[in-house]
Amino acid sequence: MLSVLRRRGIASEAVLDAMAEVPRELFVPPHLSELAYEDGALPIGDGQTISQPYIVALMTEAADLGPQSRVLEVGTGSGYSTALLSRLAGHVFSVERHDSLAIAARRRLADAGYLDNVSIVVGDGTLGLPEEAPFDAIVVAAAGPRVPEALRVQLAPGGRLVMPVGSASGPQKLNCVVREGENSFRTETLAPVSFVPLIGAQGWQR
Ligand code: SAM
Repeated sequence: MLSVLRRRGIASEAVLDAMAEVPRELFVPPHLSELAYEDGALPIGDGQTISQPYIVALMTEAADLGPQSRVLEVGTGSGYSTALLSRLAGHVFSVERHDSLAIAARRRLADAGYLDNVSIVVGDGTLGLPEEAPFDAIVVAAAGPRVPEALRVQLAPGGRLVMPVGSASGPQKLNCVVREGENSFRTETLAPVSFVPLIGAQGWQR
């Protein structure tokens, strides 16, 4: 898988090391384990998916993490990207709206030894976690109509928010928003993507 990621432009050795370290087969359903190292999304239950490894690597690289970084992840899903983020950051707060997925992810992360610097929270991640803000990076693993204002304001100065934005079932763009000043944000588009919808008060309404 690393050769695919390098060929597609992932250059951060720290991200590539984390991708090499975290065993993706622990985070996919057992009957799909032979597909764990293919570069594709896979179903994980509740109509949700574990994201494509290349896109996870691209998002993680764009988050530009360091050992002290405090990270908010929205959309824990299987817990795979949470595990990757935990290898690169100081602490990862990951919010999942489905309690069944959150419980299963917490158990996998504990069994694999990744829970030391991870907190899994059940709730609406479009509202962020104001009590834990500010965050050096926010990574949103589901696509919303726009970047939630609640998340924007929880970014630390210089912080980076990586998130797919677009239609719920049509074209989406992976955006990286950098907080350059109190009220100054710069947005860069990284790639066209296809994500499940971000459902919540500042996402799509169910
Ligand atoms: N990164 C995950 C992984 O490695 O398995 C995959 C995440 S999956 C593509 C998107 C997740 O976002 C789903 O588990 C979905 O339930 C969750 N989600 C959607 N809207 C949410 C919200 N408002 N708050 C928290 N989680 C949400």
